[in-house]
Amino acid sequence: MEAMAATCETNSDAEDNDKEYVGFATLPNQVHRKSVKKGFDFTLMVSGESGLGKSTLVHSLFLTDLYIDRKLLTAEERITQTVEITKHTVDIEEKGVKLKLTIVDTPGFGDAVNNTECWKPVADYIDQQFEQYFRDESGLNRKNIQDNRVHCCLYFISPFGHGLRPLDVEFMKALHEKVNIVPVLAKADTLTPSEVRKKKLKIREEIEQYGIKIYQFPDCDSDEDEDFKQQDQELKESIPFAVIGSNTVVEAKGKRVRGRLYPWGIVEVENSVHCDFVKLRNMLVRSHMQDLKDVTRETHYENYRAHCIQNMTRMVVKERNRNKLTRESGTDFPIPAMPAADSETEKLIREKDEELRRMQEMLQKIQERMQTQKEAY
Ligand code: GDP
Repeated sequence: MEAMAATCETNSDAEDNDKEYVGFATLPNQVHRKSVKKGFDFTLMVSGESGLGKSTLVHSLFLTDLYIDRKLLTAEERITQTVEITKHTVDIEEKGVKLKLTIVDTPGFGDAVNNTECWKPVADYIDQQFEQYFRDESGLNRKNIQDNRVHCCLYFISPFGHGLRPLDVEFMKALHEKVNIVPVLAKADTLTPSEVRKKKLKIREEIEQYGIKIYQFPDCDSDEDEDFKQQDQELKESIPFAVIGSNTVVEAKGKRVRGRLYPWGIVEVENSVHCDFVKLRNMLVRSHMQDLKDVTRETHYENYRAHCIQNMTRMVVKERNRNKLTRESGTDFPIPAMPAADSETEKLIREKDEELRRMQEMLQKIQERMQTQKEAY
């Protein structure tokens, strides 16, 4: 009560006299400085059939060629190819702000003749990153955890089909509880504006119909200005973002722009009349990067963690019951009597010790499994 009174007094004093104030108004600046110093990290996964323009879009989004050493497979090689997971990390700096960007690609996805469960290696990869984080978080060196959790998955939908293909539905359904899925309509320059509109509508309807939970943009606060609300609404209605990628800069109306040059004209990647590239980039980089990370941490990772703890507890309880049964049936010698309170404490300590030992064993097993999986990649 006293502390509160003191604060109130100080506040009213501060209103009267600018020089006398506590100073916590600088807190946002302190947080800002600390975050900038530490740098930011973000992991983006791109998935979808090969040839849909994933690497070109990543290049256009971050102006970095992460795929210089990419080896394209022949048709014959692709028949038997299994889904691979590749990871590229690059440090980008803009106006003194550092971003460690990791791009996770899934070459081979949907390429084989039989694509049954080809989303599995992708789901496993996401789980392994959660597993690693969970292990690090429970370990001793919790301060320097490397966070490799996947914050967003851009899922590329072919512009040539009639809406979603069964593989798209399967992939999104298998992953929607593990990662923030943002669907994109690839190579939008191959469609007329009315085709883009119809396809978007169809895809949105199918997403709803199949119960796919894609990343939901958070609702605007009611006190936001009208412009902001309008932009937010447009963003929600743009799903799936119709995108165009290009690795080249061309000249259009006397200006150098990133675009694709065709015999009949130029399509500009950053022209919002031509496609949703700018909307997607703004969403990813400017407005929603932190929310994507928050949802990953608070929803997807928490789900994984809760599941893990539930499994561990179940194992511990099972093991404890088994031990109890063995003790009850196998004790043929008298156990020395202890004072009631002490024996109760002893029992509790023994149980806790046992629980800890089992948890350590579990962690050890997870570690070994991860090591084998790492070696297999
Ligand atoms: P990935 O296998 O999904 O990574 O696809 P790539 O980025 O390697 O692109 C495959 C081919 O599609 C290349 O020839 C690209 O030049 C072309 N491409 C990439 N993006 C687009 C696009 O937006 N529109 C069109 N028409 N072609 C594109």
